[in-house]
Amino acid sequence: MMFVEIEATNQCNTHCIHCPREAITRPIGMMSWEAFEIIADKILTQPVISSIDFAGMGEPLLNPLLSRFIAQVSSYAPTYITTNASVLSPVKITQLLESGLQNVIVSLSGHNDALFRSMSGGLALQKVEAQVRQLVASATEQMAVLANVSLTLQTTPYVMEIKNYLNSLGIESIFFSKCHNRGGYLNDSQICDTPVPPKGAGRCDIFANTLFVAWTGEVLACCHDLEGKGQIGNLVTEDIDVILERKRNIIQNGVKFPMCENCNDIYRFSQDATPDNSPLAEWIYSLYANEDARAVKLIETIRQRDARIYDLEQREKALKEEVAGFKNGRLMRLLLGLQNWLRKPG
Ligand code: SF4
Repeated sequence: MMFVEIEATNQCNTHCIHCPREAITRPIGMMSWEAFEIIADKILTQPVISSIDFAGMGEPLLNPLLSRFIAQVSSYAPTYITTNASVLSPVKITQLLESGLQNVIVSLSGHNDALFRSMSGGLALQKVEAQVRQLVASATEQMAVLANVSLTLQTTPYVMEIKNYLNSLGIESIFFSKCHNRGGYLNDSQICDTPVPPKGAGRCDIFANTLFVAWTGEVLACCHDLEGKGQIGNLVTEDIDVILERKRNIIQNGVKFPMCENCNDIYRFSQDATPDNSPLAEWIYSLYANEDARAVKLIETIRQRDARIYDLEQREKALKEEVAGFKNGRLMRLLLGLQNWLRKPG
């Protein structure tokens, strides 16, 4: 199985809160046509390619060559782009359709303007929504439109609202991605509180199954490699088989690049079974136990509210009984008798 990710650019027109762009130290730029041709020729020699995704640390639509890149490879494997949709235009949509692109994943974490702006570095939802609607309306059987929602502390409480909102735009296939620290570079517990897995796991199913090619042609550990510390070769200058052999050796000895130690991307454990009762299994269970804790808190709040309502109802009932008792009591009878006596004519 080989998933290929090609970084058309690591430039971006915004700064989402769950993306630690400020930590990028490798050069910022765009893949050239010359570099892409060499890279694509080498990749297409591989017998089985599961997909080719134009993703990475930037907004791929900023590279004006993107549709040409896609057209070059779209008949060999399913193609994807992951975009914030902010620079989509009718011309770009037509170009993407003509390139043979099969999947557009729109990053859309929010169902209202305030949440979306706070998540996406100030992008206006109204503008993005109009462009996404246009994309969905233009999509044919050839090209599907999907969405990715990053589940940070800001978006998690609104999962259902976001799902309904995306459905209302005509998007049915949605990835709800548990937030992670992007190889340890995102360190803000107000955004993402996913715990780190046990040390020394040395396992990464992302690395094992994905070939990540940066815009420079460097093959890096993964898209979280913001400093280029996990470089295992360069597809512009080296043979692909040499690079894949290096990958295999690393997998055998454990995937232990500097950024892997604290990486809590759950997809690094997505392929093989996790042994029960192992520290790793405990970590995975704890991610969901936290979800349970939130649910328990919600249920407790509802229970307390119900108890308050019941208490008020009981007090109201007791008050009514007291009033009824007063009406039927001796004092009331005495007052009524006095009233009748006063009404008697002289
Ligand atoms: S474990 Fe390492 S190689 Fe795997 S996704 Fe995390 S940072 Fe990347």
